[in-house]
Amino acid sequence: MAVQSVVQTRGQRNPWEMAQAQFDAAADRLKLNDDLRAILREPKRELIVHFPVRMDNGAIRTFTGYRVQHNTNRGPAKGGIRYDAHVTLDEVKALAMWMTWKCAVVNIPFGGGKGGVICNPKELSAAELERMTRRYATEIAVIIGPHSDIPAPDVNTTPQVMAWIMDTYSMHQGYTVPGVVTGKPLAIGGSEGRMEATATGVLATVEMAAADMKLPLKGARVAIQGFGNAGAIAARLFHAKGCVIVAVSDTQGGIYDKNGLDPARVLRHKQEHGTVVGYGNAEKVSIEGVLEVPCDILIPAATENQLTSENAPKIQARLIAEAANGPTTPEADQILFKRGVRVIPDILANAGGVTVSYFEWVQDLQNYFWAPSEVGTKLNQVMTQAYSEVAKLAHDKRCDMRTAAYMLAIGRVAEATQLRGLYP
Ligand code: NAD
Repeated sequence: MAVQSVVQTRGQRNPWEMAQAQFDAAADRLKLNDDLRAILREPKRELIVHFPVRMDNGAIRTFTGYRVQHNTNRGPAKGGIRYDAHVTLDEVKALAMWMTWKCAVVNIPFGGGKGGVICNPKELSAAELERMTRRYATEIAVIIGPHSDIPAPDVNTTPQVMAWIMDTYSMHQGYTVPGVVTGKPLAIGGSEGRMEATATGVLATVEMAAADMKLPLKGARVAIQGFGNAGAIAARLFHAKGCVIVAVSDTQGGIYDKNGLDPARVLRHKQEHGTVVGYGNAEKVSIEGVLEVPCDILIPAATENQLTSENAPKIQARLIAEAANGPTTPEADQILFKRGVRVIPDILANAGGVTVSYFEWVQDLQNYFWAPSEVGTKLNQVMTQAYSEVAKLAHDKRCDMRTAAYMLAIGRVAEATQLRGLYP
């Protein structure tokens, strides 16, 4: 519980206010007119659902869930579903807006959406999780679909959860609709490379930034906050590139070893004990401590609001790659920029996930599936192009990479909005 309250109180900013502040800063620089600002500053749709689920003991429990579509001018809404005891509508709105910009930065034809259910999945049995997922999918089925809004995994949701959503939606339609969600298991229309996609994209952007900064990846010390899909796979991929993984963490705390941790063994420890804490002879560090250990590259891969004005002055890394969405507050951004710490923003760094989700959706619609090498090559092309465009804009405008990524993304969404015109 102590850990939980630390996680909760450290957040200084409401994520939605943070997302709007980031938007405003980029819109100012772009000199976006007031009409476009008003349209892009708010989500298109916010759905709140309260739904009953029968628990294993026969009792009925009512859950609350959300699905938000921020913008669909460039294509269907796209974004994950989060299961978390503390998820709020404002958090989902922020995540949906970030998805709009993320899809635009990597120039894939999607808008932004996000969903969430207030629950602690660790307290639910597998059968309860399935019933809750299927009922939530039914409640949001009025707005999701392969041509309108395509969910995917996020914190605490898995390929199995995506399989249940796909099946539920398909039962309602009367035929199989694999393209309604991405991040599915391979056997039912998932894509090769989807599990590793987010971490692969993070690595691709770090490789480009490190080359630019003359920071050799071999031997670079890497600290990672969060040891789930994004964080644990990033640990494996960075380790394979010769980086020294000096620290990792989860909700129970962190571990540090200046000589390096073996990610595969840490993962086994987490699978056996439910946490990375207690692994080998590693030193135990606090949840905050992991962000401040001596390292060259820091990868926040957990949740929002982790790098704040409080700890930004203490960060020792030269390069931060945001695998998580929204880990850095605007105040921390300014401090880090002044200190010369390079931040690869979330909407660029972690866009590998949604990019391979796009590939999965294309494969599902065509019923024609690609080899792993094809997915890898295409992902690399997309990440390289996006990174180069953002880095060039940041250089030309003498701004940080987040501002540049926002300018690029908002410019694309604004152009689509203007071209489509106002209905009616
Ligand atoms: P996950 O549920 O697989 O893992 C989350 C991890 O973070 C867990 O290890 C959990 O213990 C840990 N964690 C949560 N709060 C923490 C805290 N305050 N301190 C330390 N550890 C904490 O989730 P994921 O899919 O890896 O997502 C992690 C982040 O990456 C989220 O911000 C998510 O939005 C973002 N992201 C994920 C994907 C994807 O494809 N999975 C894509 C883009 C962005």
